[in-house]
Amino acid sequence: MRGLFKSGGAGRGAGALGEDALRRLSLFEDFESAGIGWFWASDAEDRFIYITETAANAIGKTAAEVVGSPVSSLFATDQEDDVERTSRTLPFILRARNSINDMVVRAGEEERAIWWSIKARPHFDADGEFQGYRGSAKDVTRTHQQQKDASRLAQFDSLTGLSNRHRMSKRLNAILTSFQAAKRSCALMMLDLDRFKQVNDTLGHPAGDELLKQVAQRLERIVDKGGEIGRLGGDEFQIILPDIDDRGRLGEIAARIIQMLSQPYSIEGSRAVIGTSIGIAIAPYDGITSDELVKATDLALYAAKGDGRGQYRFYSNELKDGAQERREIEEDLRDALSRGELRMHYQPIIRTSDNVVTGFEALMRWNHPERGQISPEEFIPIAEESNLIVPLGEWAIRQACEDASQWPAKLTVSVNISANQFSAPTLPSIVANALAASGLPPKRLELEITEGVFMGDAAAVDATFEKLKALGVRLVLDDFGTGYASLGILRKAPFDKIKIDQSFVHGSTEPDNSNSAIIAAIVSLAQALVMETTAEGVEAMDELALVKKRGATHVQGFIYSRAIDATEVLERLKGGNLVFEPVGPAKYRAERRRVFRSIGVIHENHRYDAVMRDLSKNGAKIEGLLDVPVGTKLVLDLGGGQLAVATVRRSQDATQGVEFEQPLINDGRDNLVTRHRVSPYALAAAGMPLSALPPGHYPLIEEYIKSGGKARFMQVEVSMTASRAA
Ligand code: C2E
Ligand code: CA
Ligand code: CA
Repeated sequence: MRGLFKSGGAGRGAGALGEDALRRLSLFEDFESAGIGWFWASDAEDRFIYITETAANAIGKTAAEVVGSPVSSLFATDQEDDVERTSRTLPFILRARNSINDMVVRAGEEERAIWWSIKARPHFDADGEFQGYRGSAKDVTRTHQQQKDASRLAQFDSLTGLSNRHRMSKRLNAILTSFQAAKRSCALMMLDLDRFKQVNDTLGHPAGDELLKQVAQRLERIVDKGGEIGRLGGDEFQIILPDIDDRGRLGEIAARIIQMLSQPYSIEGSRAVIGTSIGIAIAPYDGITSDELVKATDLALYAAKGDGRGQYRFYSNELKDGAQERREIEEDLRDALSRGELRMHYQPIIRTSDNVVTGFEALMRWNHPERGQISPEEFIPIAEESNLIVPLGEWAIRQACEDASQWPAKLTVSVNISANQFSAPTLPSIVANALAASGLPPKRLELEITEGVFMGDAAAVDATFEKLKALGVRLVLDDFGTGYASLGILRKAPFDKIKIDQSFVHGSTEPDNSNSAIIAAIVSLAQALVMETTAEGVEAMDELALVKKRGATHVQGFIYSRAIDATEVLERLKGGNLVFEPVGPAKYRAERRRVFRSIGVIHENHRYDAVMRDLSKNGAKIEGLLDVPVGTKLVLDLGGGQLAVATVRRSQDATQGVEFEQPLINDGRDNLVTRHRVSPYALAAAGMPLSALPPGHYPLIEEYIKSGGKARFMQVEVSMTASRAA
């Protein structure tokens, strides 16, 4: 101790302590033993040479044990919830020989959370040589813990324990800022639960809370340590995934999340099923700042929901324009009903045994004053999103009942009911009113319901089924095999008929296709449950033969008729002829995915313009370069930074068949995309300022590549329409 503090008395002789010094020493000892504060000192190697005995005792050691050990082994900075991780670490400060001012450190072992606030000054000898630190410490465990709890509250969601919106946004900002310098990528996922509201409304808020907790737990099981999960509020979750830009991998993660979250939940004895939609965007490709990236995931999420729930979707530039268009369509749809722009059309459903029509499916048609015919595949999802589906659907039910009441008494009419319509408590009374108003007997009305209605509160779903059954209407399970439903649902719910989705019918006649076996399985299941089966989307004679052979009781498809309007139906039925003859191609030909798109083809630093025709996972057909030898390696520029390395496998005149080095992947919506994209950072490195790149845009990539190299192949002009005719 003496050696330690002798520097204070430079003018005094060595050995004897002056009175003044002795007084100070006793004061110092009093101070230490009273526990008001402690002292410590280190040497030039940052090892302890002194520590107050009671301080050492507080962490379960003696001062003698502590002396000699490195300062940083005893004092650790608390980083676990330091959001920005910007505060400088203790070793850093020690190395720099800076003063330490009220730094809160964790003392001792990790398990025993004792927090000290330390203060210290570096000590130098007369020659300016560093001699070590002289410092003090005091216990701040209580206040520190309180602060930590308070900051936890401010940063974490108290319900699920996940990061809250505030923390997620800070984290994303911090990550994107630091990654920008390091040219690293970072993916962001935005999740929104489908039909969570129904659970909350019907089972109550405590059940809703419990569901959210379970969702959080499932997410934590899927997302590994590197990722950060947050709940932004309500049923919105966000996941930050640093250093992933592989869209193949991200798609797999998203698909897994969707699959896991759609498994049934058991909540206070009730069973609930929800789904989730996911939007994905990746920095720096789709945005560089956190604002841009968040906007991109929002748009992608919105598109995922519009595509039918339970989907994921990557951000792409088209989405920006798509969102605008959807808003306009939604606006116009609000008035479509009152302006009389909506019509119901009817497609016959034919009994396979004798080609006799047994009923019609009612399909909505919208003739937009400027855009012309808009497909229900486009406007129905918008109507569902905005809840316009309820009035629109009510009109459809009334209109269909009205029209069907004019048909021969044997014929049924099938009306599509969206999941949102189904969960509205008014559905049974709407149906009852429509029947009463039209005078149509209930057994002539079929309601087509998709597996989606089973999401939400199971008890409420059961109750609606019961009410509808009590009315005497028939229930049809539509699009069977494409959704969440388990076979168990079929046994429980009182369906009269199953519709086998088109996707099983198409391709069923091709060799090595499992669809035919699936059709057979669905039919025999339906037979066992005494239900009828309608095979949808039958277009060719061979398909008709196959679904007949597999035992489907009914067929609906272009081979008999497309949907026709109400007057045409009456016309067709006049004279009492209910037989429809199949007319169609002999064989179903799997239509190749025909893509006509202008792309760039890069070879030896020269960029050519080309048109892409067929595109598949493994290759493409391109047109625009003359006589490229087989075996040539090309790079296809598919736009948006997507470069695909490919080898020419077939070549004739200006057309080449190329094979990709790495297969393309599905973007969640049946579009094929490359796994990786050229980073805007790479372009920036080539002399382009990052700020010049709008998010997701690669405006100069063509220019950049075009500028180099000489053409080796002859470029021929192909017009998009000419190639379509070819
Ligand atoms: P959906 O219920 O699966 O209806 C069958 C769809 O397949 C109809 O498309 C029909 O025109 C089409 N289709 C029938 N036969 C063939 C065929 O042989 N080949 C091919 N390629 N397609 C065939 P549409 O009319 O475009 O309707 C699309 C979807 O929109 C319907 O699918 C249904 O989900 C929804 N929708 C239509 N009208 C209504 C409605 O009034 N209410 C509700 N909620 N949804 C509706
Ligand atoms: Ca249908
Ligand atoms: Ca269908």
